[in-house]
Amino acid sequence: MKRVGVFTSGGDAPGMNACIRAVVRGAIYHGAEIYGIRYGYNGMIKGDIFEMNSHSVSNIIQKGGTILKSARSTKFMTKEGRKKAYDQLQKFGIEGLVCIGGDGSFTGAKIFFEEHGVPIVGAPGTIDNDIYGTDFTIGFDTAVNTAIEAIDKIRDTADSHDRIFFIEVMGRDSGYIAIRSGICGGAELVMVPELSTSVEDVISALENEKRRSKTSSIIIVAEGGEAGSAIEIAGKVKNKLKEADIRVTTLGHVQRGGAPSAKDRILASRMGLSAIEGLLNSRKNVMAGVMKDELVYTPIEHAITIKKSLSRDLLRMVDIFNNRYKR
Ligand code: ATP
Repeated sequence: MKRVGVFTSGGDAPGMNACIRAVVRGAIYHGAEIYGIRYGYNGMIKGDIFEMNSHSVSNIIQKGGTILKSARSTKFMTKEGRKKAYDQLQKFGIEGLVCIGGDGSFTGAKIFFEEHGVPIVGAPGTIDNDIYGTDFTIGFDTAVNTAIEAIDKIRDTADSHDRIFFIEVMGRDSGYIAIRSGICGGAELVMVPELSTSVEDVISALENEKRRSKTSSIIIVAEGGEAGSAIEIAGKVKNKLKEADIRVTTLGHVQRGGAPSAKDRILASRMGLSAIEGLLNSRKNVMAGVMKDELVYTPIEHAITIKKSLSRDLLRMVDIFNNRYKR
């Protein structure tokens, strides 16, 4: 394979730039020509494609976001859109792709391979850490650190004013960011989609805290849980605990930005190099990951369909540290 392309797709994540850098430098090292595709699948359809060299990725390892930009593409969800993307790749002579993105991007990659036979190797870039085939995804560690920094600050003010804070963190339908930031931030309760914690459970936990003379509490809510958003849950709790001074903070997109942590820079670099080397060694339809500190390739099919489970011992730890097992 002489000429390959690289693109970032879906939600951005800190460390994507480090991954692009590794893909580009790895391709050049192995004598391949490397092309960047801007704005994910949208750019592929439009032909927003350019040749990259070693210098194209200078001074980016420390930067958040993605120099290739990212997008969600509805056109690529259609057969016609994917045909246009294929025609553009043909025009540029691109024979294989490295896709840095989440499960949606990999689903698109798999369909594209089935329809047009373009080999794609994925590198999991998403703060949600919800992809099977790697212990951690690019951006997750930085996002957790960002969340912890915010939680620490909120705890100061919660303590000064004897307030209960509901803090919503990202994660789509997985509780990875919530559980880790909850443990690190000393949260009194963590609500994750993997466990069905009801509003009644929250009320009883808060009443329990009050009995222990705890005057302020932090409750971490993962987005996408059955009980609703942090605002909805807080509203229901307030209806029951009328005396309580309750506030809500939704951390939102701040979790997607910022300079990648050391851990994310290393992980992204390893995955980027592994992805391009896999592609150049004729691997197709796989995702590069790191499991138990070893580089592994997982079929994209498995990466997108197998549910990665949240560590039960972490959930148990949250409860033990907050005395809920021994009432
Ligand atoms: P994140 O988890 O960070 O949101 P993601 O890669 O899962 O990242 P999505 O928005 O789900 O983000 O997917 C990115 C893009 O992948 C979509 O905008 C679309 O272009 C493409 N894609 C997703 N699902 C499909 C599909 N079933 N068929 C074709 N393309 C798809």
